[in-house]
Amino acid sequence: MFHALVAIKQVPDTTNIRIDPETGNLVREGVPAIMNPYDAHALAAAVEWKRKLGGKVSVISMGPLSFTVTIREAVELGADWGALITDRKLAGADTLATSYVLATAIQAIHAKDPIDVLFFGKQAIDGDTAQVGPGVAVRLDVPIITYAVKIRDIDLNRRRIVVERRTEKWIEVVEAPLPALITCEKDIAEVPFAPLPDLIRSLRYEPEVWTMDGPPAFDPEYVGVRGSPTVVFKMGTPPLPQAGEKINSREVGVPVAVKTALDKAAAAGILNPLLGGVK
Ligand SMILES: Cc1cc2nc3c(=O)[nH]c(=O)nc-3n(C[C@H](O)[C@H](O)[C@H](O)COP(=O)(O)OP(=O)(O)OC[C@H]3O[C@@H](n4cnc5c(N)ncnc54)[C@H](O)[C@@H]3O)c2cc1C
Repeated sequence: MFHALVAIKQVPDTTNIRIDPETGNLVREGVPAIMNPYDAHALAAAVEWKRKLGGKVSVISMGPLSFTVTIREAVELGADWGALITDRKLAGADTLATSYVLATAIQAIHAKDPIDVLFFGKQAIDGDTAQVGPGVAVRLDVPIITYAVKIRDIDLNRRRIVVERRTEKWIEVVEAPLPALITCEKDIAEVPFAPLPDLIRSLRYEPEVWTMDGPPAFDPEYVGVRGSPTVVFKMGTPPLPQAGEKINSREVGVPVAVKTALDKAAAAGILNPLLGGVK
């Protein structure tokens, strides 16, 4: 039987995230929340493969108690079981501390109910670091396939997974032994409308709530602010790009317009070397 585990994070439903200027942490209060979109697609892929192979999908999340809503949403989308790891001591975690907590929780789940594939989103749309999936894979010492766009095959007999991953130039087809961890692009699967039975089940679903005391017990040295060496010194928004200058070729003619544009680009030091204007 196939056992997939999906790590899901709740994120603010806005690109206008607010940062606490004192702590450099994300302010969640008063901001509408959603399941991280990449995680929703990763979950959809896990559920698709559960339906092909038979088995189950577990989800875990680390965050405040309000993340329960996101675990219920995962159940609505086809997850069978979920745990929320929540404790005040976990607050302020950077990617190192987040990876430690998730990896420790995954080890505990795997010991009871062996996991075949770990699904992560490519990145969270608030933190945007894309470090947590790789961080967990290293801690668990399992192969990782990042930027997955398609799962070609999961062979539980041969204990192999074949995945297409997108690089800047091409699609790579990668085979890895199970258990493996993949970080998913949105192309991995369409997020379906929830079937009615899953919708009804999700309304009453209560995830398991794990604290610092477990199960499993987390080492206070490695969690929360204490276990997070990253410090965000300063936050800000990048300056908006300046509006471009228009050269009206109808007024000055195309050759003059082109020459003017090239001269201006050369003066700004941004002329394409292929045009012969290397600075
Ligand atoms: C603006 C900003 C800048 C930050 N910069 C840094 C930084 O430079 N270095 C740093 O260490 N931290 C940084 N943080 C903190 C960072 O958000 C947290 O470490 C966060 O818990 C995980 O990082 P991420 O959101 O970038 O996740 P990513 O690594 O982008 O997430 C990838 C995937 O990991 C899984 N995942 C991530 N978090 C959780 C979770 N809590 N529960 C379950 N699954 C999860 C999901 O599947 C997700 O799709 C920053 C936060 C903000 C808001």
